[in-house]
Amino acid sequence: MDTWVHIVGGGLSGLSLASALAKHQVLPGPVVISEPEPERLAQKTFSFWLTDEEHAFLNPEYTQSKWQVSAEELTISHTGQRFRYGTRSGQHVLDECQAVIASHPQIHQVKEVIDATPKAEHVFDSRPIAPSSFRLIQSFSGTEVEFQRPHHIEAVGLMNRIETTDSGIRFVYVLPLGAKRVLIEHTEFTTKLADLSALQSMNRDYLSGEFSTNPFQTIRTESAHIPMGFRSTASHLGIPIGARGGMTRDATGYGYRTIRYACEAIARDLVTHNQATRYHPSLTTQWADTVFLNLIDQRPDSIPEILLTIARRMTADQFAAFMMMRTPSDVFRILWSAPLKPFTCALIGKYQWI
Ligand SMILES: Cc1cc2nc3c(=O)[nH]c(=O)nc-3n(C[C@H](O)[C@H](O)[C@H](O)COP(=O)(O)OP(=O)(O)OC[C@H]3O[C@@H](n4cnc5c(N)ncnc54)[C@H](O)[C@@H]3O)c2cc1C
Repeated sequence: MDTWVHIVGGGLSGLSLASALAKHQVLPGPVVISEPEPERLAQKTFSFWLTDEEHAFLNPEYTQSKWQVSAEELTISHTGQRFRYGTRSGQHVLDECQAVIASHPQIHQVKEVIDATPKAEHVFDSRPIAPSSFRLIQSFSGTEVEFQRPHHIEAVGLMNRIETTDSGIRFVYVLPLGAKRVLIEHTEFTTKLADLSALQSMNRDYLSGEFSTNPFQTIRTESAHIPMGFRSTASHLGIPIGARGGMTRDATGYGYRTIRYACEAIARDLVTHNQATRYHPSLTTQWADTVFLNLIDQRPDSIPEILLTIARRMTADQFAAFMMMRTPSDVFRILWSAPLKPFTCALIGKYQWI
């Protein structure tokens, strides 16, 4: 029988779409997923905000209710009431999706590279886009370590020690994963690709400086350049999904939550109406993110104060909503909470007045 759906790339979005389709016992035709390196997903860690009601669907392995943002001497700490910060490993996602997909007789995974549009009624393309097309870049290197004794880190450091660099901003992300494990990531929002090995050595310096009396062992490392928006439109082999399809947030690089929900909706439309719909991020979110990216590009020195002011003026749940930006009211709350001058100058393009 002719292929009904062909998914190019079996990373987060490809597997999310396939496993959402696999929930339907009988599909209109065969589904193929082409992925040359199925284990690649296992190298990532996904974090995201969620409410208790979303726990079963988003399926975190760890959740935390405390998070903080800091620069120089100032630290803003929050404890979420409605929202928690969840984390799950790429391996956990891979195992869940593979189990569902493998049990469906009409879904087949093929270990192959696809370079031309495959023959199928619906084609979805999740191949990553090259960094040369990124509008701005999030470059980061992560080091996951296990300490001999508990580390006593009680809050997720979302953006700690925010500082300006010559091409953007840098901060350290601190993610506790149980009593003795932690993931440290030095991250840059930048106009040019950051040196990932330099970021990796910052992790080592941070760990030996902060935990000099608690020996640790490195478990694994992860590094990447993630898109913060795209400058040019790539040509796709079908309907773009995942980061390629605009499902990662321009201002933060976060994509897990949106990818899971958007792929579920695409699968529903396919099965119910035999229609392949493209995901479109909200215009208000895109607009606010563009203002933020322009500020990073033009006046990175203004960013630490903007982020700290927003974090200080918002409640914990409002701050989580700001990071997710799901509704226009989340966007307007940010404009309300942000320092007036830099945003007003950015809106009229007068960055020199900031
Ligand atoms: C290291 C890392 C950590 C991240 N952490 C978070 C996080 O904590 N929270 C969050 O919300 N977001 C995070 N993201 C952002 C986003 O959620 C991920 O990038 C996510 O994996 C994007 O899913 P995707 O399907 O678009 O791409 P991918 O998961 O990268 O999948 C694309 C797949 O396409 C395959 N492929 C490439 N070329 C071809 C070809 N020619 N033919 C067939 N297959 C091909 C690749 O092998 C790959 O498996 C992270 C990203 C990275 C890189």
